[in-house]
Amino acid sequence: MTYESTVCPICEKGTLKKISGFTYKYKNKSLNLPSYIYYECTHCDQNIEAGEDNLDIDAEILNFMRDVDGLLRPEDIKKIRTGYALSQKNLAGILGVGIKTFTRYESGSVTQSRIMDNFLRVLKEHPEILRTLANTPASQFKYNYSMNVAVNISKTDTLSDYTGSYELAECA
Ligand SMILES: [Zn+2]
Repeated sequence: MTYESTVCPICEKGTLKKISGFTYKYKNKSLNLPSYIYYECTHCDQNIEAGEDNLDIDAEILNFMRDVDGLLRPEDIKKIRTGYALSQKNLAGILGVGIKTFTRYESGSVTQSRIMDNFLRVLKEHPEILRTLANTPASQFKYNYSMNVAVNISKTDTLSDYTGSYELAECA
């Protein structure tokens, strides 16, 4: 879809002119986006985004901001989770966030906070943290010592139910 030559929705006087290429600036760092498309009005000073044309670029900008801020990228988070053979539901339970929030970290639509990022990095290096969290009163999972992974439990289960073998929740 193109808005070339359509009437400006802001001033309704000028028409829109298609511009390709944009330099995104964040904290004194620059990201060149040659395929970014936006429109300039021939009458007023408004720049108008083309919306759906730039979806991939929105993801690129979010990753650029993550890099500048020193935060994990979505694929890094997924790697940590799958490294422990955890489902998204399980790791969300371990982290104490909702499943929707966690899936947004992995899809890249939401960036994790600094404290969440720090915790994920620590978790990656220290598997024993899973055991620690399995023993908290709020734990939604138990640690399977034989398989070295965490599994979902129901409230009536006890830890001794999880010393044998069982099926893992499917990883998303
Ligand atoms: Zn205008």
